[in-house]
Order: sequence, then C-alpha cells, then structure tokens
Amino acid sequence: MKMLKLKEFLRQHALWVGLIAVAIPLLAHLWLQYKSLSQLESTLPYQRKAYMRKYLSQVLEKVIVYYEEKAEEVLNVPSTAFNHTYPNPDYDPRTAIDFDQVGEYFTQHKFNGARMLFVGIISGREEPSYVTISFYNPQSNEFGAKVSREERSVAHAAAANWMAMIMTKSEPKSLRPTVDERDSKNRVIVKPIVDSNKHVVGVAGMFLDDQVFVKEYLSPAISELTPRWFPDEYQQAIVTVLNQEDKLVFANQQYEGKAFEVGWPFQFIYTDWFLGIRMRHMTEEEWSRRYFLINLAFSALTALVLIGGIVMALRTASRAMKLSQMKADFVSNVSHELRTPLASIRVFGEFLKLGRVKDQLKIREYGDYIETESRRLTQLINNILDFSKIESGQKTYQFEQTNVEHVVTDTLKTFEVVLEQNGFTINLEKPQQALPPVVIDQEAIAQAFINLLDNAVKYSGEAKEINVVLGQQAGFVTVAVRDYGVGIATEECEKVFEKFYRVGNVLVHDVKGSGLGLSIVKHIVEAHQGKVTVESEVGAGSTFVIHLPIDDGTMPKPAQREGKDEESTFGSELQISGQTSH
Ligand code: ADP
Repeated sequence: MKMLKLKEFLRQHALWVGLIAVAIPLLAHLWLQYKSLSQLESTLPYQRKAYMRKYLSQVLEKVIVYYEEKAEEVLNVPSTAFNHTYPNPDYDPRTAIDFDQVGEYFTQHKFNGARMLFVGIISGREEPSYVTISFYNPQSNEFGAKVSREERSVAHAAAANWMAMIMTKSEPKSLRPTVDERDSKNRVIVKPIVDSNKHVVGVAGMFLDDQVFVKEYLSPAISELTPRWFPDEYQQAIVTVLNQEDKLVFANQQYEGKAFEVGWPFQFIYTDWFLGIRMRHMTEEEWSRRYFLINLAFSALTALVLIGGIVMALRTASRAMKLSQMKADFVSNVSHELRTPLASIRVFGEFLKLGRVKDQLKIREYGDYIETESRRLTQLINNILDFSKIESGQKTYQFEQTNVEHVVTDTLKTFEVVLEQNGFTINLEKPQQALPPVVIDQEAIAQAFINLLDNAVKYSGEAKEINVVLGQQAGFVTVAVRDYGVGIATEECEKVFEKFYRVGNVLVHDVKGSGLGLSIVKHIVEAHQGKVTVESEVGAGSTFVIHLPIDDGTMPKPAQREGKDEESTFGSELQISGQTSH
C-alpha cells in the first residue's frame, strides 16, 4: 500500500523528483569542485614558482657546466711544460716553463670566454722564493700580455693556494678548477697542474670575459630553454640577470617595473649574480586566480547546461505521461459517450418498430430523441475524425468568400431541436450593418461554432440561456457564444484549448465529453488566421469568441490557403491562444 502511494507520488511529481535527484549530486559536485579549485588556487602559485626556479637552475646549469668543462680543457696544460722543481739551485726563469709548449696548447684549445690566460710557478733558487705568473694573450697568441696591477694581484691571489702545495709537495684532493671572484671585475678560474706523481708543479688560469659570457652563452641558453619550459606563454616571460650591485646585466625583452618574481643565484662562476624571471602581465597569484575563475565558470556552465537539458527531458517526459493519461481518459469518455445514446436509440427504435407506442406525441418525442442523439453521435464522430486528420496533418479546407451570418443562422437552425429539447432559449444579436465578407471553409467554421454551442448547452447547468453575438472588431468578424453556466476558473482558461483536456471539478464532473471540442475549434480558427478567446467567471458563465479576419483583398487567395496544414498546432506541443479576462 505504501509502495503504491510512493509510486503514485513519484509519478505525479516526476519533474520535481527527477530535478532534485539530479540537482543535489550536481550541486555537491560543484561544491567539491569549488573546494578543490580554491585549494589549487592557493597552492598553484607555489608550484608555478617552483617550476620557474627549476627552469632558472636549468638555464644556469647549461651554461655553467659548459664553462666548467671548458676550463678543465683549456687549463689542462701538460705538466711536461713545467721543468722546474723547487727549490732549484739551477733555476733559470727563461727555461723554468716551456712557453712554446704552453702557448701551443693554449692556441689549440681556444675558448672565447677567456679574455686572458696565465701560468704560474714558484720560482727562485732557494727559500724564500716567490710566485712568478706569466700572462698569455689569446688574441695575439703570445706570452707577455700587458696586465694591470689589479689583474696581476688577482692572479697571484688565485694561484696562492696551489702554490703552497708546490712547496709542501702535497697531493691535492681534487684537481678540479677553482674560482676566485673576490674582485668582481677580474673573475678568475685556476687549475693545478700535476706531474705523474700527482704533485702540483704549477697552475694555469684564465680571466673570464663577462660580455662574452652573457652574450654568447647565457643569452642563447635563455632563448633556447624559455619556449621549451613555457610553450604557451614564453613571449610573456621576462628573464633578467642582475649583477653584484643589483644592476641589470641582461634582459631577454623590454620591461617595466619589477625585474623578477622568482630568482636563482649563479653557481661556480658569477656567484654574486642573480638570474630572475617573471610573467609580463600577471603575478603568479593573479595567474592562478584567473585559472581558478575560468575553471569554476566552466564547471558552472556545464552544470547549468546539464540541468537545462535534464529539465527539458523531464518536462517532455512529464508531458508525455500527462498526455498518455489524457488519452486513456479520452478513450473511456468516448466509449461512454458512444454507448449511452446508442443504447437509448436502440431501445426507442425497437419501441417504434414494434408499434407498441400509439400516442402520437410520444412517437414524436422518441423520434426527436433519436434524431438529436444521432446528431450528437455524428458530431462526436466528426470531431474524432477531424482530430485524427489534424493530428496526421491531413485536414484540408475549402476556402471561399462567405458571409459568416449565413453560416451562423444555418447552423443555429439545425441546432434548434437540441436547444428546444433542453429548454434553452437562444438569442442571436446581429449588428445593424451587414458584416464584411470573410474567406472561410463553411463546414469547418460551422463545426467550430457547433462545438461552442454544444459546450454552452453542456456546461450551462440550470441557466437555460445562450446568446450568440455577431460583430466586428479590429479587422476581425467575431462570433461570440455566451452562456450563464458553470464558468471556468482563471487558471483553467488557457488549458481548455489543449487536446484531451477536461476541467476536473465537481461542477462539470457529470458532463460527458471527449476533451477534443475546443482544441478542434482552436485549430480550425487558426487555420483561418484567426483566433479563439474566452472570458469566463466561475458560476457566472463563459463567452467564447471566434475571430475571423475580414477579407480586405490582402488575404491570400483561397487556393493558396487550401490544402494540408503546414504546421499542425496539434503537434505534441500544446499551444495556448485563449485570451482570458475576468
Ligand atoms: P469536452 O468534450 O470535455 O466538452 P472541450 O474541448 O469542448 O471538451 O472542452 C474542454 C473543457 O473546457 C471541458 O471539459 C469543460 O470543462 C470546459 N468548457 C468548455 N466549454 C465550456 C463552457 N461553455 N462553460 C464551462 N466550461 C466549459
């Protein structure tokens, strides 16, 4: 029992239940998305900065490793060029170093990053002795280069540690080049030269050329790696090099404001310099905010489209369910409508055939009854056939220019019997002037009119009066059918024109009907480029008005308007054109 109730509830509120069933998980999903996106927003700048740091260190590594390798190679002067062992009573400064051999080596291992090279030994015949450094000019490929006092003292200072080793004859732990950058204008790399016993016999060194370093090594490395690391936004990436005084040494493009957002110090050489990067238009925080907003907007949009789609699907489903319910009601209504009059006709027909009824009045009454009931059946069957034609788009119209007054009076004549039988009085109000002509299908308009009259009779209750008013209004000829019966509630006024729709209140509960009449009226009238409206008040009655456009010569020719309905208003969409006012 409970299950049944639940099923019924779900069926009735399918749209809302479906919507809630989708909306709740969707909202939860959106919320989670929001949470994770905002978490991402706060961590993303750090990740981006870490990524940038990695990029910077890779640029530096590329250049520095190269320099280190180059220094190893260039300064690896053969130890055989150092003939002198210390202390040496036969010391001769001209033969202590084989300058030819060293010069040849330097020429063979040219490196444009070195602006000057040098070799040094401990010289002298006995203690105390001193350091002798000989400078080599790589441009002119010869020893005896001119050097400043600063350069000389820098070379001496850089070589000093290794020189001490010559004196102590100790074996160095590492033979790798070392760097002396105490004088930032004269940065020097030195390397010990060892003999076959691994004893230091001298040093070789080079002065770095800052400009060559930046222009020919650092800058190409930046140009090569930036697009690889920032494929989508490398044009935005500003990469700068600041020196020991925080002065700009290099920038890969023009910029204003801050030199960098993320920086990384140099290693091995230029250790007091700084490589930095930032994006042109946005800080990393702004960038991740934008990323967050774009993603969130995208998720929200997707959710919205999804909900929209589901609402549409559910609406269609719920309409289909409603329609199928209406169709089921229709079948039972129509069967009922057919069976009852047929039974009476058969009974009265049998009475008459057997000649049992002798009273002329009675015979007439039975005859009348049979006539009206068969008329009603014909009307019902006409409606059903029309409906089926309309539904399949096969309803055709024979338009011709007509005076609508004739159609109305002729129809009323055929309807008189029904009205009399039910004790109705009917008033026809016509305007004093003749109505302008209209282009209509007489039969169809008559049927629409009958449907309105039929309803007026069915839904009049105790009020037995019907007014038919002909008139003219804003380019239309109007045919109004007014009754003083049960009336229609405002919210129902639009729905009564829907196919199969029947008002479900107590007042009309016992009245038989198919729910097709008004939908056919609406279709017929709209096929005439007119409209049907209703004004009604519960308990006071209803006025249905057919509006037919006046033929002022601009109307399409009847032949053009004849034929199949191009666009059936009876499609699955239930359209509403009834105007209501109370
Ligand atoms: P039916 O066969 O049920 O009369 P219709 O399409 O003609 O089908 O009418 C749809 C519904 O509109 C009716 O069931 C009835 O509730 C309401 N209705 C139509 N005409 C009138 C009227 N003149 N007065 C009150 N209610 C009406």
